[in-house]
Amino acid sequence: MSKVLLKNIGTLVSGNISDPILKGNAILIENGKINQVGFEGDFDAAGAQTTIDCAGTTVTPGLFDSHCHVVLGDYTPRQKQTGFLESEVHGGVTTFISAGEVHLPGRPKDPAGTKALAIVAAKSFANFRPGGGKVVGGALILEKGLTRSDFEELAREGVRSVGEIGLGSIKNPEDAAVMVQWAKEYGMTVMMHAGGTSIPGSSTVTAEMVIQTNPDIVSHINGGPTAVALDEVKRLVTETDFALEIVHCGNPKVAVEAANLCVEQDALHRIIIGNDAPSGTGVIPLGVLRVICHLASLAAIKPEQAVCMATGNAARVHKLPRGLIAAGKEADLVIMDAPMGSVGEDALAAIEAGDVPAVSMVLVDGEIVVSKSRNTPPPVRKPQVVSKDR
Ligand SMILES: [Zn+2]
Repeated sequence: MSKVLLKNIGTLVSGNISDPILKGNAILIENGKINQVGFEGDFDAAGAQTTIDCAGTTVTPGLFDSHCHVVLGDYTPRQKQTGFLESEVHGGVTTFISAGEVHLPGRPKDPAGTKALAIVAAKSFANFRPGGGKVVGGALILEKGLTRSDFEELAREGVRSVGEIGLGSIKNPEDAAVMVQWAKEYGMTVMMHAGGTSIPGSSTVTAEMVIQTNPDIVSHINGGPTAVALDEVKRLVTETDFALEIVHCGNPKVAVEAANLCVEQDALHRIIIGNDAPSGTGVIPLGVLRVICHLASLAAIKPEQAVCMATGNAARVHKLPRGLIAAGKEADLVIMDAPMGSVGEDALAAIEAGDVPAVSMVLVDGEIVVSKSRNTPPPVRKPQVVSKDR
């Protein structure tokens, strides 16, 4: 049995957007899961193998990148780069959600091929953690000819999601809606591209098409990279209960407008945050933190709410037992502070001021996977491992 204690925490961001800041200064982890959250004196940390003194800084759940175009391994054919996932873990991301392995050179477009790709991506990423991060790989690309029994087989083989509808040969709601229903029957989470055509071969998707198709997630409501018109954003916010994704590689103006609309409509629990990379825009190791800063500095959103969008909101939509600092959840955590030179005094104040916070430590299942980010600026205050037995 392994025990890890995080103590001397300054601010605890829960991941739960309806109660974003927790009381307490310590977290006790046992066997990779959060066991207790509260004040250090209130729980029995005797026998902890590792104690981390957080030096009064901020602890949040590990961030989700809800829109990542992985293929296989830590390599992107789209931008010919290796290590882009590991690099993003240094930006606080501990869970990556594949939005479809569309960048595979020679991607097969027949039912057997698209199924095989989803299954191999799901299974290989289940065994592979780039930089310690967890990848939900294998997002089925909908192609003509898939049948109900294909969805049954895919779910049985570990495929949990349908990648952005609009990228494969199934584009129209008339064709997509029945497959979406099958996917949901087998417990999959369904994403749908919204907005302008992203690359040759894909298509422009309007709000009406999304509404008729009935996915779980409106992928990049602020465009990937071209956004729908604001009145279409309004329809998606007010006429549906779909999760609404805001991405880095989208339209920054519409990101703010969509976020403010969600404030008005009391829909902040529906917003999730992704990169939509690798893409034509590139790879962005700090993309999720940058969207958090963007929303918290330019829209009417508090920094702790923005963090919850990239953690608890995403975990709920993707049905994963993490993203919250709460007993029983997987202990994927980020320790962060204001970056040196920021006008903000702590991580949340820096975010509110628009500064990317300094990631000083990242834990996955209670194990330290990053002890000093190589991508964010350095923190004002650094956590320290004060004891490590065995
Ligand atoms: Zn897209």
